[in-house]
Amino acid sequence: MIRVEKLNKSFGDLHVLKDIDVNVYESDVVCLIGASGSGKSTLLRCLNFLEKKDNGTIMIEGEEISGSKNNVNEVRQKVGMVFQHFHLFPHMTVLENIIEAPTKVKKISKSQAIQEARELLRKVDLEDKADVYPNKLSGGQKQRVAIARALAMKPDIMLFDEPTSALDPELVGEVLNTMKELAEEGMTMVIVTHEMGFAREVANRIIYMHQGRIVEEASTQEFFTNPKDERTKAFLSATT
Ligand code: ADP
Ligand code: MG
Repeated sequence: MIRVEKLNKSFGDLHVLKDIDVNVYESDVVCLIGASGSGKSTLLRCLNFLEKKDNGTIMIEGEEISGSKNNVNEVRQKVGMVFQHFHLFPHMTVLENIIEAPTKVKKISKSQAIQEARELLRKVDLEDKADVYPNKLSGGQKQRVAIARALAMKPDIMLFDEPTSALDPELVGEVLNTMKELAEEGMTMVIVTHEMGFAREVANRIIYMHQGRIVEEASTQEFFTNPKDERTKAFLSATT
């Protein structure tokens, strides 16, 4: 689904991604972990072309992404993204948030978009919130709306950047449950998270980044029971 080869990205003098190679296969659930500043968000943003790579190759479903505008819009329809801070449109109701991109970008009819949005709201357990504005929702509810909104574009791949980091602890579980259900349905997912319990339970593969490099990549079982790299070992003993 995703193939990244020798991806490099700098911000000025700061070399943030260094020769990153990643493959993501269909129905993979890959958790991307590492200390703050290691480049996780930048990698995710490059995959969705919110950041422009300096060099290297990014292929989505076998197609190389050049960065031309059409190409990028196409990718954004295949690859949904959920952010730490939700990024809902505050002046739109929950339902309006969800139907915005399908009607404006994909040009599907409003009635169909509404029907699909209601099904998605049922899926994230927020059927009764269709007509409220985001400021009336808890953080966990906002994030579930953000997930529904991303799913409304029918993406093949979902990227999550610390989706529970801004939530009060008691609201983390409901969002992780929604993500777990998606994973069980076979969605291909790349998730930046500090929730090690979730990673252990739901991911099939873990990638550990340190200072812009992937220093360890392993099956979840292998990663948690038999980490190889000294930096991974130190990280795991500090966080689990
Ligand atoms: P992580 O998500 O692992 O915490 P990031 O990818 O956000 O790491 O950041 C990696 C490094 O790149 C950090 O040093 C950060 O300050 C820097 N960085 C990220 N985005 C920008 C930007 N838009 N401009 C300049 N520096 C940035
Ligand atoms: Mg980040």
